[in-house]
Order: sequence, then structure tokens, then C-alpha cells
Amino acid sequence: MGDYLVKALGFDNKVRAYAVRTTEMVNEAVRRQKTWPTASAALGRAMTASTMMAAMLKGDNKLTVKIEGGGPIGAIIVDSNAFGETRGYVSNPNVHFDLNAQGKLDVARAVGNNGYMSVVKDLGMKEHFTGSVPIVSGELGEDFTYYFASSEQTPSSVGVGVLVNPDESILASGGFIIQMLPGADDEVINTIEKRLSQLPPISKLIEAGMPPEEMIAALLGDDNVKILEKSNVVFSCQCSKERIANALISLGKQELDDMIEQDGGAETRCHFCNEVYTFSIEDLRALQEEATQ
Ligand code: ZN
Repeated sequence: MGDYLVKALGFDNKVRAYAVRTTEMVNEAVRRQKTWPTASAALGRAMTASTMMAAMLKGDNKLTVKIEGGGPIGAIIVDSNAFGETRGYVSNPNVHFDLNAQGKLDVARAVGNNGYMSVVKDLGMKEHFTGSVPIVSGELGEDFTYYFASSEQTPSSVGVGVLVNPDESILASGGFIIQMLPGADDEVINTIEKRLSQLPPISKLIEAGMPPEEMIAALLGDDNVKILEKSNVVFSCQCSKERIANALISLGKQELDDMIEQDGGAETRCHFCNEVYTFSIEDLRALQEEATQ
């Protein structure tokens, strides 16, 4: 069973819903970065929410979510695009704490709640949208909920959950976003709020192996859902030796000279996928030829 995302409408098109399973996607990020369980849960929740947010974009639009809550994992950076490709990393992967009072991985302690979450959307044609909100909880689901209400004026409910196996691989990961569209009246809002309060936590649904379609049905009620589309989501990093080379060229002749003379070459590691790119002295000399300054 691969990861996929489902988009749906509910309550006569007054509500929009997204649900996604991201178990393999997050497992790939965790495997590459060797994150410890609490850091894995934080990264997985952020990647899950970001993947759903990118499903709201069109064409080749993409977005970057940056979460800096002042906690021990440092920053969480996630890139997602409208094709369902997501990559992400945390500054300090080696973070793990005892379970919190609810018996869950203590994501809030790892993330911290003294900082900001920002979203930069690249909408093509040099058009960018940037939204930034304070971190209100550090559990991330609530923080994305707050982001949608505050920065995009869209009342939403965001639930994300990640479960980690004893061997530190990912047992289950996924989430949902429910958004009120302009026609949603108090009756619809009250019905959904009641359903949400009666449902078990999202991580329980994911642990039970509930597919995204059923998650949406559980959230909105079987009779209220119209599934619009299903699409695959995947961990994907767009880095390449050529891209790194371009970044090196932009550093300029002098900087490249230092790498040749002092370091005898260059080695760069991609934060997102942990791939290492090596540049020999000859490689760097060739890049120097291309540098304009
Ligand atoms: Zn990479």
C-alpha cells in the first residue's frame, strides 16, 4: 500500500477535506537522516501537513514551510509541490524525549513554542505569497490550524500523527485538513466540531490502518462526502550535482580558489536527502571558468 492523498468536498460543497497517508514518505526521510523518534514525529507531522497544503496549489507551484519554535530540534524545513513530492529535514535529528502525559511522542518539547512558522508559496511568474504566524503549541497540528485561520483567513482543522516502531522506522503517518468554505453555516460547523470531539485521535485512526477515504468519511460522516480525486505522494529530493555546481559557481572565483588551495576539493551534503556530492580540484577549476566574478 503506497502513500496517497484524497481530496473531497462535503456538506453540499460547503466543506473541503484532505486526508493523506505519508508512512513511506516519512520513513524515507527518517531513514536518510537517521532522526531519533521524537524528531521523526515532528518532521513527519510537518511533512504531512505541508503535503496536504501543497495539494491546494496548482500546476508547478510549490511551497516551503519553515518552523522555528526555539526547541532542541532547531528548525524544521519542508518543501512540497503540487505533484505530491515532499522533502524535509530538521536541524538537529538527534532529539528524543520520554513520552508525554498522553503517552505520545513529545513533539511540542522538541519543537518548542517560542518562535514562528512561515509558509512561502512560489506561485510562478515570480509571484510569491508569504505568511508567518507565532507557534502556539509546538504540537504542529494546532499550529497549522492557527496558520490557516490567521494567515489565510480559512477556518480549518488540521490533524497530523506519526507513530514510530521500536526499531525507529515509521509504523504509521498521516493526517487530515478540513476547511470551511464560504457557504458553511453554524449548523455545518457545529456538526463537524461535534464529530471531531467524538473521534479518537488521528494517530489511532492511522495506527488502525484507516485509508484516507475512510478517514474523511469518519470525519465528515459517510453521507456527507464527495470524493474528488486520489493522488500519490512521495518523498522526493530535487538535488543534483549540477544544482550544487551552480551554487558553487555563484560563490565566485575567489571562494572557489580557497576550496582548491586550502581544501583540495569540496564535499557537499544535501540536508534533505543526505546525498554527498564530491568535487575534485579539476571539477572546481572547471566551475571557476564559468564563474563571472
Ligand atoms: Zn537532496
